[in-house]
This record gives sequence, C-alpha cells and structure tokens, in this order.
Amino acid sequence: MARIIDFGPVPAIPGARRKAKPAEARGLAYTAEVKAATDALYPLVEDFVTPMEWPAIAPLVHGINTLKKQRNAVVLAHNYMTPDVFRLVGDFQGDSLQLAREAARTDAKVIVQAGVHFMAETSKILSPDKTVLIPDLRAGCSLAASITGADVRLIKETHSGLPVVTYVNTTADVKAECDITCTSSNAVQVVEHVAKEWGVDRVILLPDEFLARNVAANTDVRIITWHGRCEVHEKFSGEDVRQIRDAHPGVIVLAHPECPPDVLEEADFAGSTSALSHYVKQKSPHKVVLLTECSMSDNVAAENPGVEFVKPCNLCPHMKRISLENIYDALRDMKHEVTVPEDVRVRAKAAIDAMLALPKMATPPGFKVHADLAQLVVM
Ligand code: SF4
Repeated sequence: MARIIDFGPVPAIPGARRKAKPAEARGLAYTAEVKAATDALYPLVEDFVTPMEWPAIAPLVHGINTLKKQRNAVVLAHNYMTPDVFRLVGDFQGDSLQLAREAARTDAKVIVQAGVHFMAETSKILSPDKTVLIPDLRAGCSLAASITGADVRLIKETHSGLPVVTYVNTTADVKAECDITCTSSNAVQVVEHVAKEWGVDRVILLPDEFLARNVAANTDVRIITWHGRCEVHEKFSGEDVRQIRDAHPGVIVLAHPECPPDVLEEADFAGSTSALSHYVKQKSPHKVVLLTECSMSDNVAAENPGVEFVKPCNLCPHMKRISLENIYDALRDMKHEVTVPEDVRVRAKAAIDAMLALPKMATPPGFKVHADLAQLVVM
C-alpha cells in the first residue's frame, strides 16, 4: 500500500521565485481554444512529448502558427531540428538548399529559418525580396566558420586555372568567390562536371576535408581541399561502427559523407541526409543506425514506425539553439533579420544556379562504402 508522507508546508525561501514556463512567460496559456486547435497535432510528437508536457508546448505551437498567418510567414525546418520544431511548426522540412528553393517558390513575405546562419543566407540569396529571420543569431556552424571569402581569393591566386567548387554549407561570402556549389548528394557529379568542362584533372573542393576525401574515393578527378570539418560528423570513427555492430548484431549502418573515411569504410551505405532518409523508407531495415545528427534519427524514426533505431548520434550545438520559444519570439518581434549585400548575393546565386543547371538525379545517390582511402591534397 502506498504511504503518504506529509512534511507540512515548505518554508518560503527569501528571494526564491518559481521560474515561469516558456509559454506562460510569453502570456500564452493552454486555453480551450488552444486545446481544440492543437489536439490533432499531438500524435505527430507523441513519441517525444509526454501528455503532461503537452499543455506547456501547445500554446507556443498555436502562437507560432497564428503569427505565421498574421505575418504571411513560413518556417523552414532543417532535418536536424528537434521533432517539436520539425513536425509541429515547420512548413517545409529537408536539407538547406531544398528548403531555400521551396521557400522561394511561395508567396510568403517572411521566412523563419529553423536552422543555422549560413542556411538563412542561402534563403536570402534565393529570396531577396522576402524578410529572412533567424531565431538565434548565435546559430553558427564549425564548417562554415572554417573558411572566409578572403581565404578563397588566396586559394584562387595560388591555384589559378582550376575550378573552385564549394559545399553549400558555407557563407554567402564564400559562395560568391566560387564557380559552382555542390551538396553532399551531388558533390561527385559536380566535381566530374567541372573537371570535364574546364578540361582539367584537378578540382578544388571546399571546405570539408572529409567530404572531399569521400568524394575523392568516388572519382578519378584529383581533389584539392581545405581543412574544414563538421564538429558533429568528425566525432564518429570506424571503431564506433565496429562497437555498434558488436552490440547490435544485424544492424544496418548508414553514414553521412561528412564523417571520416574510415566510417564510410565500415558502413553499409553512405549518402546525404535525403539519401539516408530515402534508404530507410525504401528498404525498411529491421534495425538501423544513422551516423549523423541526433534529431535526424528522431525525425526519420517518426516517419518509419516499423524500423528500430539505434541512436549513438551526436548533437549539433548550433542547430540546438533553435527552439519553439525563439521561433515564437522571432515572429512576434520580427527579429533577427539576415541580410546579404547585393553584389555578394548576385555572385553567390550564380554559383548556386550553375549547380542547379546540371541534370537532376532521380534518386539521391550513395557514396562508395568499403572504399580505399583516397589520396588528396589538403591546403
Ligand atoms: S551539423 Fe555540422 S555542418 Fe551542420 S550546422 Fe552543425 S556543425 Fe555545421
């Protein structure tokens, strides 16, 4: 039988105040109207949000969805957003370029980037007439921060005559200095295209050293690269994969190409976030692990309820700066606007357009796994 222990009234602690809940602190309450408007959304996140937590979250979701209508705004939710942001307030979900392109096609006046700063810049590059907001200005990226436009100008001086390809995970300033952009889906295709078009056997691919190494293992074109790294994907190792396989016999290991090459050597499949998601949907493996950002696993798991997910993933601290609270604040106060100088925007857009002009691939391709480590030059 349960015992009730009554300690009597808790003495007041001088100066102590109950911390207001995020919705309450914004004057938002779980009213009958909010409940009616949000009840249908709860099943989308029931694996991540308990029924007890829902009354604290629903008012924020309702507040954001109301402000979106008032401001004619769309929320772009990157694959690495937590499921509450991704599934409850995101109007579009996916990778950064796909999101920016989808937002550009809408007649929305405002874009809220639920992602990091370079992604907001990409949205601005493609939608110069829309107001682009980022909920937290500190949402940066170790990879984008590894290189500047001035660095690229120096590289071009020392390697004149070679085409410069930049990964989309870079600032507008860097894109503006490059000939063409690439994504983790089409990096091999872009490198081979520019090598052929320029009649060269070497291509500069910036700034991710590991993506460049993995591309180099998939092409005969010689790659020159930079020492940038994604702080999330660089943490995985081939040894991690072996330990996961020992602990979870039969698990299918999927890796992102920003991981070190020894991870791809041990993986069953490697590809962009779209390719990983596509793989799980198409093949429905019994048990899978996604070696990428944690929330990507949660979001793919929510869409594939029959698949068991092992989750030794890494969190991106920059992505995790974005929350329902600061998305609400950004829309309410129309802060923090991201702008790109027009001359930079035009040149950066030219690099993106050059990539978009290439033939589209029907399904997101994978990278070679179990490949030998490729030779490349890191600047
Ligand atoms: S996951 Fe890596 S590449 Fe993406 S924003 Fe975070 S640090 Fe940058």
